[in-house]
Amino acid sequence: MYRINANYGKLPGSYLFSTIAKKVAEFEKQNPDRKVIRLGIGDVTQPIAPSIISAMHTAVDEMGLAETFHGYAPDLGYSFLREAIAESDYRQRGADISPDEIFVSDGAKSDSGNIQELFSADCKIAVTDPVYPVYVDSNVMAGRCGDYDAASGKWSDLLYLPTTADNNFVPELPDRECDVIYLCLPNNPTGTTLTRDQLQKWVDFANEKGCLIIYDGAYEAYISEEDVPHTIYECNGAKNCAIEIKSFSKNAGFTGVRLGYTVVPKELKCEGVSLHDMWARRHGTKFNGAPYIIQRAGEAVYSAQGKKELKEQVAYYMENARLIREGLTGMGYDCYGGVNAPYIWMKTPDNMTSWDFFDRLLEGAGVVGTPGSGFGPSGEGYFRLTAFGQRSNTEAAIEAIRKM
Ligand code: PLP
Repeated sequence: MYRINANYGKLPGSYLFSTIAKKVAEFEKQNPDRKVIRLGIGDVTQPIAPSIISAMHTAVDEMGLAETFHGYAPDLGYSFLREAIAESDYRQRGADISPDEIFVSDGAKSDSGNIQELFSADCKIAVTDPVYPVYVDSNVMAGRCGDYDAASGKWSDLLYLPTTADNNFVPELPDRECDVIYLCLPNNPTGTTLTRDQLQKWVDFANEKGCLIIYDGAYEAYISEEDVPHTIYECNGAKNCAIEIKSFSKNAGFTGVRLGYTVVPKELKCEGVSLHDMWARRHGTKFNGAPYIIQRAGEAVYSAQGKKELKEQVAYYMENARLIREGLTGMGYDCYGGVNAPYIWMKTPDNMTSWDFFDRLLEGAGVVGTPGSGFGPSGEGYFRLTAFGQRSNTEAAIEAIRKM
């Protein structure tokens, strides 16, 4: 008789977005005349930029002709895309990453969930808290997190690095042994980030202790401040200790199109074994390449026109972020993020729990956000609003909260 991976049974249900959906559906049923404004899920709302759509059309036409048809893509990505990434995202930022250190994929969620296959079963994992839940859940599935304690919301074998207003959203370096550290910067959900000097300390720590950093830069396009690094490879020594994961979802609206990439530097070795070679082996075995049409769309992201259009799109969302942040701050709420990221992280008023505030906001203002406790124990007492909405909805939400 076969046996299942019992670690799946340890996972608490993914209640966050399904509970939100249920509560909203119930509210809409009870209040058919009230408009509900959704600033909860981190999905984009602007259409894909014209120059990218045009590149996709051209690629679609190529697929219809025998001479220009493309079958399986190279496992690691087409060189036209890997070269564009290396040039724009790295070399132009002074980071020495070559195209063959870039692995093109179907998105950052897959890569951030799959990367843990490279670690041994007994690796100790550290995560900043709160954080994008995939890092924890994928390690739970692999049996690295121990047991879940529902009362504290914590996994027994996971090292949590609290990142809250109490430490100004700058987590302390681990004070216990750990092997792999996940950093998501700019952070989902707090919308905060680290300066180059602060990140350098993490890189130095990792090199000194022999840790690996998994650096998720999905929101890099939203960085506006000069001293915030756009890639971990701006830090000295990062090529010896860090893997970087990137997405085209938030900078180019590819959430429904699917494209991402992971950088595994050739210098990165564990006891003489190259992680680059391991990831290449894994990618080649389990992934058959991102579609040609989508990789051509990705290439257009780096064209002069593509960059111009996407800068405008990012500016649109960041204007929403400003409206939310300044609107709520003006009402007396404590708000964080929203300067280098499209998320506003607010403290719930009157020490309310995240879920109580969710209910109050839905009933009082018809606005849907995301309870901070869904992102980890240190998210309790916080609430996330996204700047990815339409402008009119964002303005209406702020007005409704003001009236509430
Ligand atoms: N990484 C972070 C931190 C995210 O917040 C998200 C999506 O919300 C992803 C990765 C997923 O990116 P992708 O759409 O490329 O899978």
